[in-house]
Amino acid sequence: MDVRRRPSKALRPAPKEPSSAPEPTGAKASDALPLPLYFTNALFFTLFFSVAYYLLLRWRDKIRNSVPLHVVTFSELAAILSLIASFIYLLGFFGIDFVQSFIARASNEAWDLVDEEEGEDHRHRLMACSPSIADHIIPAVSSAEDEEIVDLVVKGTIPSYALEEQLGDCKRAVRIRREALQRITRRSLQGLPLDGFDYGSILKQCCEMPVGYVQIPVGIAGPLLLDSFEYIVPMATTEGCIVASTNRGFKGIYASGGATSTILRDGMTRAPVVRFPSASRACHLKFFLDNPSNFQTLADEFNKSSNFARLQGVQCSIAGKNLYMRFSCTTGDAMGMNMVSKGVENVLAYLRNEYPDMDIISISGNFCSDKKPAAINWIEGRGKSAVCEAVIKEEVLKKVFRTSVATLVELNMLKNLAGSAVAGALGGFNAHASNIVSAIFIATGQDPAQNVESSHCITMMEAVNDGKDLHISVTMPSIEVGTIGGGTQLASQSACLDLLGVKGASKELPGANSRLLAKIVAGSVLAGELSLMAAIASGQLVQSHMKYNRSTKDVSKVGS
Ligand code: ADP
Repeated sequence: MDVRRRPSKALRPAPKEPSSAPEPTGAKASDALPLPLYFTNALFFTLFFSVAYYLLLRWRDKIRNSVPLHVVTFSELAAILSLIASFIYLLGFFGIDFVQSFIARASNEAWDLVDEEEGEDHRHRLMACSPSIADHIIPAVSSAEDEEIVDLVVKGTIPSYALEEQLGDCKRAVRIRREALQRITRRSLQGLPLDGFDYGSILKQCCEMPVGYVQIPVGIAGPLLLDSFEYIVPMATTEGCIVASTNRGFKGIYASGGATSTILRDGMTRAPVVRFPSASRACHLKFFLDNPSNFQTLADEFNKSSNFARLQGVQCSIAGKNLYMRFSCTTGDAMGMNMVSKGVENVLAYLRNEYPDMDIISISGNFCSDKKPAAINWIEGRGKSAVCEAVIKEEVLKKVFRTSVATLVELNMLKNLAGSAVAGALGGFNAHASNIVSAIFIATGQDPAQNVESSHCITMMEAVNDGKDLHISVTMPSIEVGTIGGGTQLASQSACLDLLGVKGASKELPGANSRLLAKIVAGSVLAGELSLMAAIASGQLVQSHMKYNRSTKDVSKVGS
């Protein structure tokens, strides 16, 4: 039997964070009697049906004996009162449930309809523009007690996603959602912190339906001596050795006079797919886009929605009647996905007038290509394309890395070049670029999913200065980073950007901060490559992992 609790108007204390799994709701006392809820329900059910049966029997006897129905004995009067009392209790308990579930169904259906037809934005507009409509669908809960709201979320009367909007208090919404989740799943979230985070800062921007936050330690490595400047690099990781190894790489680079970096290209891409009635019509648009005399018209359309997005070019690819147009633009200090998408929408609206038979299939046709391994990014680049190099002196290789130029050059050829070719790698001609890229991405609020293409890297090693020193370089064509927008504005990520001196928008030159961040990523990858390759060459890899990357706890005792 469903023993969920009836919402009561009585004031209750605000729920506290449970120290362990919550008490099952079925064990709670009822509001009507100081008895367990299931017992009270059973009592009123039995009372209702037995007095109803008794009264029906009495009624039949009165009709048979021609006794007027309104003449009642004391026992009949008691039975009628008991019937009314138990009916009121049962109606209060189950009737409210029924009405609430009916409202919830209507509310969910309304939102589903809105979400399907208009998208999530429309729902927010509906809430903002027509509070009267919204009020009819979801009861106003902002003044209700937390305990009561948790019950309503558990029952599905209030959708969990609407809590922030309904309560107008992000922290309280998270606490209630978290409590409801624990009751529904009967799992404790102890260990996932709630306090110490500004939930307002992620609203409608970084994460929906939060219940807490995951802690990732941030280590520092450095200084990285890059283009004559020093940087202390924050790295968020739970893999031992990564920070220590990068730090050792920085030490070797520093002792050798530093590294040099160059940004080869800077442009974010978005590639919609459109369909025509025929391949020749698709080609007609391709030729139009390829014609340099049309570029300014396209750029005027593209650039009008942002002060920072500036169209660089359009690259087309045809698949039968379908045309893929890869728009590329500068994006200032933002990573740029929002900007480029808005610009592309402007151009599509313009092209639609010129090509009425063009059917827009998708704003992204995967020729972009975002968050998926794709040769287009490896060859053409996406975001910032960077190259970073250093000459590591012979004595440094010996002293810091305990290896030699010849050993490293041979290892690089066999592992990073030939080995990756044998594996059919796509952009994976390196030892562990993604370890460094992801750690810096997480620390500085980048989109970690873009680690896929941002870690594309070819590591080259060559003997120079008569074979005494090592020239090492990393070439990374798709580093997708920003210092404004997305997760970069959150407090901890923003502090890490500040440590690097690249927080927010550059005041001198739009894009200077994000380009510098890309260079720092490349410089750190250079250090990581040098250090790991040296560790492999000198046979230190397993030893150092045993030292830094091995749990000293008995993991077999960790419960599932
Ligand atoms: P993205 O395009 O990476 O998703 P957002 O759209 O979230 O980035 O954030 C970029 C916002 O910051 C835009 O509204 C833009 O106008 C603003 N902005 C302010 N200064 C700069 C700058 N120097 N470079 C890029 N964007 C900037």
